[in-house]
Amino acid sequence: MSKVTILVVEDDASVRNLISTTLKAHDYRFITAATGESAVMEAASHNPDILLLDLGLPDIDGVEVIRRIRSWSNAPIIVISARSEDSDKIDALDAGADDYLTKPFSVDELLARLRATQRRLALIQSSSPQQPVYVNGQLRIDFVSGCAYLGEEELHLTPIEYKLLCLLARNTGKVLTHKFITQSVWGSSWENDVVSLRVFMATLRRKLERGSDSPQYIQTHIGIGYRMLKIEEKDG
Ligand code: CA
Repeated sequence: MSKVTILVVEDDASVRNLISTTLKAHDYRFITAATGESAVMEAASHNPDILLLDLGLPDIDGVEVIRRIRSWSNAPIIVISARSEDSDKIDALDAGADDYLTKPFSVDELLARLRATQRRLALIQSSSPQQPVYVNGQLRIDFVSGCAYLGEEELHLTPIEYKLLCLLARNTGKVLTHKFITQSVWGSSWENDVVSLRVFMATLRRKLERGSDSPQYIQTHIGIGYRMLKIEEKDG
């Protein structure tokens, strides 16, 4: 993979150093920022490929940093949060973050998340939203005919399952919150729909992921939402 530039935003010097050392050892290019304001400035001047963003910053809130950066940039944002509360992660995801890491995290976890984000980046760069066909592992969606296939076999999906599948596919690699999904699919007040969402996701997954040898396409984030995983070639 070509070298990507990562903007590391973290006010805690020891965590910032740990991340920097890890990135350096694995041949990533990176820049750092210790405040929200400087993060927005660094993002604007360096146009990084990926952002690692701590949510608890001394000046402006991490969620506000995401909103500002999202007004001009689509670069994947991985949120780093010491807060155990899911609501902070949900706010960050709804503001446009792609993924999250919870402190304390291991170096391996950080690297795995970066590799997954690079795959998402490659996918974003290689595809346009107008692309008529989506392919991920054995899964293929023909947006023009409105049909989905697993291998050669057509998937028999209800209209809602198909809508859900397309939404997840178009956001492959990104964690989508319950609120985002229900509002996109039903356009309604979401609190009442999380239970129905769970039911639809369960049937969709049964149709997509058959048996233990089938790769996992949809990842569940308990209390937060769902994500379509990019199936690596060797798994597909
Ligand atoms: Ca912090």
